[in-house]
Amino acid sequence: MKNLAFISMHACPLARLGEKDSGGLNVYVLQTAKYLSNRGYNIDIFTRAHDPQDQHVINVSDAVRVIHIEAGSHESLKSELPSLVSDFQENLELFKLEYNLNYELIHSHYWLSGQVGLSLSERWQIPHITTFHTLALTKLQARIGEIEPAIRELTESKIARNADAIIVSTSEEKHALTRLYNVHPDRIEVVTAGVDLERFHPIDKYLARKTIEISESNIILSVGRIDPLKGVDILIKAISMMDNTADTKVLIVGGEPESGNELSKLINLSNKLGLNDILRFEGTVNQDMLPIYYSASDIFVMPSYYESFGLVALEAMACGVPVVASRVGGPKLLINQGGNGYLIPWVCPEPFSEKLEILLSNKILREKMANASISTARNLDWNNTVNKLSNIYCSLTPNNKLDVIGA
Ligand code: UDP
Repeated sequence: MKNLAFISMHACPLARLGEKDSGGLNVYVLQTAKYLSNRGYNIDIFTRAHDPQDQHVINVSDAVRVIHIEAGSHESLKSELPSLVSDFQENLELFKLEYNLNYELIHSHYWLSGQVGLSLSERWQIPHITTFHTLALTKLQARIGEIEPAIRELTESKIARNADAIIVSTSEEKHALTRLYNVHPDRIEVVTAGVDLERFHPIDKYLARKTIEISESNIILSVGRIDPLKGVDILIKAISMMDNTADTKVLIVGGEPESGNELSKLINLSNKLGLNDILRFEGTVNQDMLPIYYSASDIFVMPSYYESFGLVALEAMACGVPVVASRVGGPKLLINQGGNGYLIPWVCPEPFSEKLEILLSNKILREKMANASISTARNLDWNNTVNKLSNIYCSLTPNNKLDVIGA
């Protein structure tokens, strides 16, 4: 027996990526489930029904299903979800009863799902592993102006105290959990997130540029959800400080412009700074197309205030693009200064501008960093992640009930 229940209440693994609330967490849940299924696990991923067009149960493969559980209206905002947790849990249990399902372990993702995981693990008498992906206290410390529901911090503490294990993607996050939430380090496992190397690999630059219709010589890229924490405004200001932006295009992937939202604020900033000819806002891009965007670029920039990991930096590296990133999350772990990219200790435009100028003016350096980036990413495909997850699952299941292929 090797049946896992993944709970990802707010992040549907099949949602369109790059919009306000869909990104790395959705990718992480789907990819780990897919790769775990190659090792003999069956995984049901429970997520909240959010689109009337979606089927109740979607078979992603023979061993992975996405199950949409009703809780509140399909249009409910993320801010309303804390009040829908108990409905979600009740309907999830009804689904389990109706189909007479049994699971050996629960892995919950994010604090909303952590509450459900905690409660169900007590009721079903099985282990519960949690991955927070982001933490209220680290977000609040990272950037002034962040707002989180008051109960989030308390709930995270409760989940952290009671889960059988906590999985984090970096030792920086482990440190945050021990320091800010008082969790004993022995209960936290660091499992580095991964990249799909079959999808993310270098593609001929000329062809890539032709496909996305770019004729400029210098291409700078940013990819991600458009959220103030991602610091895309820092990138825009950094571009405005560069001495020479001739023959340069900056592509910003992610987000949908709606009046007053973060993306429209960034477009206004670009207008104000007279960068309309240089910046191109692409909106969300299907992940199938992202290897083309990465491969077309000379530099990938990630000026985030906070990342629990930041998959996009690893995807860019796998495609052979030097990364200039704030010293947070995955980049802090993956980038060695001046070897395969640059880490910037302060989220402010000047140092980003400086490193962009250095890299754009030195093709040999870019090529050296591109090769080094590919080597770094080569060891970090999702197999590496799920090997470790599988070992943790097995260690928590009595008599190694989850003892499956390759674990
Ligand atoms: N992504 C995408 N299309 C977009 C923007 C992002 O497919 O327009 C994907 C990207 O490939 C990555 C994920 O969304 O896998 C973003 O993950 P990351 O960890 O960088 O950011 P998070 O959402 O966790 O803050």
